[in-house]
Amino acid sequence: MALTNIQCSKLERKLDHQYKSLLEEVRDALEKSENQQYVELIDMAPADSGDQATGDALADLNLAIIDRHVRELRDIEASRARIADGSFGTCTDCGGGIGFERLLAYPTAKRCFSCQRQHEKTYAHEGNPKL
Ligand SMILES: [Zn+2]
Repeated sequence: MALTNIQCSKLERKLDHQYKSLLEEVRDALEKSENQQYVELIDMAPADSGDQATGDALADLNLAIIDRHVRELRDIEASRARIADGSFGTCTDCGGGIGFERLLAYPTAKRCFSCQRQHEKTYAHEGNPKL
């Protein structure tokens, strides 16, 4: 149940687009929150390089205002890494295909629908971040 090249590049474009708009939002949030010095970090990051340095660097800042965004950015970076190593679209839990339709709606999905449901049942308490 591997993805075709066309499906894969369509999802890759979607991930790129999400990544760039997330970075924009992070940049805005940092500018508004007097963390101007960190804006530089984003301006220096090549948004289309697909390396994990930006997400890691932002996570190191440990700022609550961008916490959710950083998690999403790192999810996207992880998805790009899976595209690169050929494991994208494969469920990390059962090894089955995640399915193009599901990935289209949720391109950073790591699990197929049934494994995700199982995971959420097991880790339900993690679904309520304190803000
Ligand atoms: Zn699965």
